[in-house]
Amino acid sequence: MREPSAEPWSAALREPAVTGQRLVRAASTPEEEVTLELLRASIEKLAPRIDSSSIDRQGKIPDAVVEAARQAGLFALTIDEAHGGLGLSLKATTDVIERMARVDRSVAVMLGLHSGLGTRGLIRYGSAEQKARWLPRLAAGEDIASFAATEAGAGSDLMAVETCGVKVPGGLRVNGRKCYVTNGGFAGLYTILARTPDSGGPRAQSLLCIPRSSPGVQIGPEEDKLGIRGSSTITLDLEDVFVPDDAVLGEPGHGSDHCNHVLAWGRSLMSAGCLGIARAALTLSLGHVTTRRQFGRTLSAFPLVQAQCADMAAQIYAMESLVRLATDAESDPQRLELLSILAKVLCSEGAFLVADRSIQLHGALGFLESTGAPRLLRDCRITRIFEGANDVLLVRTGAALLASGKTDLPAALAPRIAPSLRDAAAACDALLQERQITIDAIRKGHGLSVMRKQAVLWALGQAEVCTGAAVASLLRGGADTDATNLALAEHAACMFTQQAGEQLAAAREPRNETRMQRAQALSDLLYAPYAPRTPSQNPRSRTRSQESPA
Ligand SMILES: Cc1cc2nc3c(=O)[nH]c(=O)nc-3n(C[C@H](O)[C@H](O)[C@H](O)COP(=O)(O)OP(=O)(O)OC[C@H]3O[C@@H](n4cnc5c(N)ncnc54)[C@H](O)[C@@H]3O)c2cc1C
Repeated sequence: MREPSAEPWSAALREPAVTGQRLVRAASTPEEEVTLELLRASIEKLAPRIDSSSIDRQGKIPDAVVEAARQAGLFALTIDEAHGGLGLSLKATTDVIERMARVDRSVAVMLGLHSGLGTRGLIRYGSAEQKARWLPRLAAGEDIASFAATEAGAGSDLMAVETCGVKVPGGLRVNGRKCYVTNGGFAGLYTILARTPDSGGPRAQSLLCIPRSSPGVQIGPEEDKLGIRGSSTITLDLEDVFVPDDAVLGEPGHGSDHCNHVLAWGRSLMSAGCLGIARAALTLSLGHVTTRRQFGRTLSAFPLVQAQCADMAAQIYAMESLVRLATDAESDPQRLELLSILAKVLCSEGAFLVADRSIQLHGALGFLESTGAPRLLRDCRITRIFEGANDVLLVRTGAALLASGKTDLPAALAPRIAPSLRDAAAACDALLQERQITIDAIRKGHGLSVMRKQAVLWALGQAEVCTGAAVASLLRGGADTDATNLALAEHAACMFTQQAGEQLAAAREPRNETRMQRAQALSDLLYAPYAPRTPSQNPRSRTRSQESPA
């Protein structure tokens, strides 16, 4: 830890009204608001002592920072009070993670992973005995939680998980290798996704709790990463690890369903982290453009700079609005699952966009690590990949939309929106109608074969993310009276209504199909040199006697 100093995040922590933060209620009850206020104060106190640049360079969060987070109760957020936690709602927890991400994204990832993927399975599906066994130490931060689903051959496709638990007397014998395990280097408890063929056939999966101290658990070295370099990422080897029956979470054989719920929490908290990064990048940018002079005026006087700042702020407003809409659905797991995917895609893409624009507005200074801007970009890059690669989530969203023919987003906004937002709401209502017409037309025109047309599904998924952003901004702005917030809501709603309309048009566009056919033909040519060869064609697979002496 280091001595307090003035850093860019200190301005971001002061919640500039321009990003509308102040008027969003993150707490569900007055008691929760009190807890939240204490946590916000703790983060503000902790912030000057976190040296993000050093964490980034060293690739490690100092023990003193972990200890300070422990003391501040930051490992206890979502764990219920009966087990020593603070029992915060998902919405309130996103507020804490967002604030920590403004200070340091690696620390926010450690805490967010612990509160989301790491402990959610145990909190939601654990038995009373399992909770009593593990939660108190997790709440105190004496054990840190980790979640291991990904494997070398199972990333986006988690049904391909090979780690397997075979039935033995009293439990399972588990063998396998998990990779990219966040918090893995120092975690005390791992929730892992494994195949458990004895609980429902060869594809059945279960969530298992494995303490670090279990014989057969081996922790690999830390990965060297592009961003969130202070967070721990390791490979976890499981060799004949005995997992007793009472360490299986929820229903044996229902691991993939349980995983979806756990991921909905993880994605919500990750979205909050993206929000923190984007807000820090906007704060940096506003500070720069209002002071840097070129051509005899400050950059902020140029209309193009103004447009970029307005777009960045509106993007953040929409991101926050969608995170709030998603987390309001905490008690409705199916709705939360859907909305958390929209929020994850919007926030991860949005944070990257805002961080990139921030670098652009800084000019050469934006390329220098000393400004902190490059780190923000590097730290948020992974969010477009982990907890579901965005392209895969978009295709999935489009497919779900076509399968059900409807959505969880509310319709007919204009009648319940403040007068100053009525035009934006009317445009959004027209979009919602167009969306329904598009879905019906695609279903009718393509039939089931559309599920193989990824470009159509992807565009529909994009349209849904943008529609979610517009609707969430209007619902939030519609209940507001503050002039800045209303301007943000209007700009965000108009921006995303337009983008959603463009994506719907792309989904309907028959030329899209021609483009995909052209791309397929071209990629056949591009892939040809890399195609696996038969043994006689592949020089590497020749036997020693066949090898050329050269
Ligand atoms: C720093 C870090 C931390 C992580 N933490 C964890 C963790 O704590 N726990 C955990 O379990 N995992 C973790 N992961 C793993 C992460 O969740 C996976 O990397 C992610 O789900 C993507 O899987 P993959 O890397 O195998 O990519 P792949 O599945 O190989 O996909 C690569 C790319 O191919 C494309 N693609 C894939 N499938 C399709 C498709 N069907 N249609 C169109 N395009 C497609 C997409 O562009 C995708 O981005 C972490 C990874 C990193 C880098």
